[in-house]
Amino acid sequence: MNYEELVEKIKNCKRCNLWKNKTNYVIGDGNINSKIMFIGEAPGSEEDKQGKPFVGRAGQYLTKVIKEKLSFEDRSKYYITNIIKCRPPNNRDPSEEEINACREWLEIQLEIIKPEIIITLGRHSTKWIFEYFGLNFSSILKVRGKVYEVEKWNKKIKIIPTLHPAAVLYHANWKDIFEKDFEIIAKEIGREDVGLKKFIK
Ligand code: URA
Repeated sequence: MNYEELVEKIKNCKRCNLWKNKTNYVIGDGNINSKIMFIGEAPGSEEDKQGKPFVGRAGQYLTKVIKEKLSFEDRSKYYITNIIKCRPPNNRDPSEEEINACREWLEIQLEIIKPEIIITLGRHSTKWIFEYFGLNFSSILKVRGKVYEVEKWNKKIKIIPTLHPAAVLYHANWKDIFEKDFEIIAKEIGREDVGLKKFIK
């Protein structure tokens, strides 16, 4: 399946009830040829309105940190998505059933993009990705800021979990931790042996 076919499939998805109250399916944004992928949880109200991930308050903060720490001026350097493609009402956490109903879409996104650096934002996407790659998830505060290496698609993949930007806005004292995690991400992206060019076609 190619990306356009996937988008069409998601736009017709009724695998759980979240499609009923959504305005837009929020599929993903950025460059599908980049090898850097950010994964969040689920769209909020602004994302639902615009049909793009991370464009509300938390998203704007995330975009600012990405710009400052990684020097990515816009989304042409990376791809960004969520584990859930429709907004849960009142921004509640997605249920296990909803996460499972939506699972295949992110699996196909991963298969198409085959990212080499995956940055997970918050507990839900970190747990999802750890399960997918056979890693042992304990808690977001324990695993964040570390680089996990796995093999997939005949290459080495780096997974770097960090906090969810909405949680960081809520707990002001997490800002330093979050922004330091981005320095770790910057190092991985900028390392000579990997090199930014390698990641972006
Ligand atoms: N929070 C998320 O996890 N994803 C978004 O797209 C917006 C807010």
